[in-house]
Amino acid sequence: MLFECGEGTQRQMMRYGVSFALSEIFFTHFHADHFLGVIGLIRTLGLQGRPEPLLLYGPKGAKKVLSTAMQLGVERVPFPVEITEVKAGDTVGKQRDGYDIYAFPTEHGGGPSLGYVLKEHVRRGRFDVEKAKAAGIPEGPLWGKLTKGEPIELADGRKLTADGFVGAARPGRIVAFTGDTRPCAATVDAAQSADLLIHEATFGEEERDRARDTGHATAKEAAQVALAAKAKRLLLSHVSARYSISADELVREAREVFPNASVAKDGLEVDVPFAE
Ligand SMILES: [Zn+2]
Ligand SMILES: [Zn+2]
Repeated sequence: MLFECGEGTQRQMMRYGVSFALSEIFFTHFHADHFLGVIGLIRTLGLQGRPEPLLLYGPKGAKKVLSTAMQLGVERVPFPVEITEVKAGDTVGKQRDGYDIYAFPTEHGGGPSLGYVLKEHVRRGRFDVEKAKAAGIPEGPLWGKLTKGEPIELADGRKLTADGFVGAARPGRIVAFTGDTRPCAATVDAAQSADLLIHEATFGEEERDRARDTGHATAKEAAQVALAAKAKRLLLSHVSARYSISADELVREAREVFPNASVAKDGLEVDVPFAE
């Protein structure tokens, strides 16, 4: 899946070896820097003879904007493209294996804009090997049943339930992604306890007014959102071109508020470990 598709997206995917076998693209809003890349990308996917459908999601207006964009790129897209307009609060797209994606409202001004949050389902508790051994349960299929929370019967006739052998359910991971936005309560809500918050930080503090007037956030404001949400990690994105040589200033401003902050770079890969 892909979040946003700006003009450089395809070039960056090729450069960093990101697979083109994607099936979904999530758009936050329809400013050119967030979707124009889809024209070339769909053309490339068509030339590759892709048969699988491509699903596009975005706020109200997505159908009009994206279908027009696609017509600009190719006469006929040789694979099915499905455009779905989503609204804040929606679970986005199909039933997914082990996680869901939700849309949340952002405040960018001039038309609807969304952020997306990926939430893994709660995971089963950890199986306590020592307790199982102490209870004389032989390693093998019975352990597997207990791990899944199923009751078992031992060869000696004892019937046991999984309670006591399996710990409390563990939270899944949460990754929240804002498009362009002012810092807002909806993002704080959506990114609650997030393992990773990817928040726009177009400007530094010296351009605080400009950020406010253009519907963007400063690095410090992004950090305040991360702090309020009790997120574990903050990645600043969408930084203005003036920080392209060095975004140290933005990182410094963010870290004063939220220490675990860094700035996203093209090709960056981030591990999101389980908290427990
Ligand atoms: Zn924008
Ligand atoms: Zn933008």
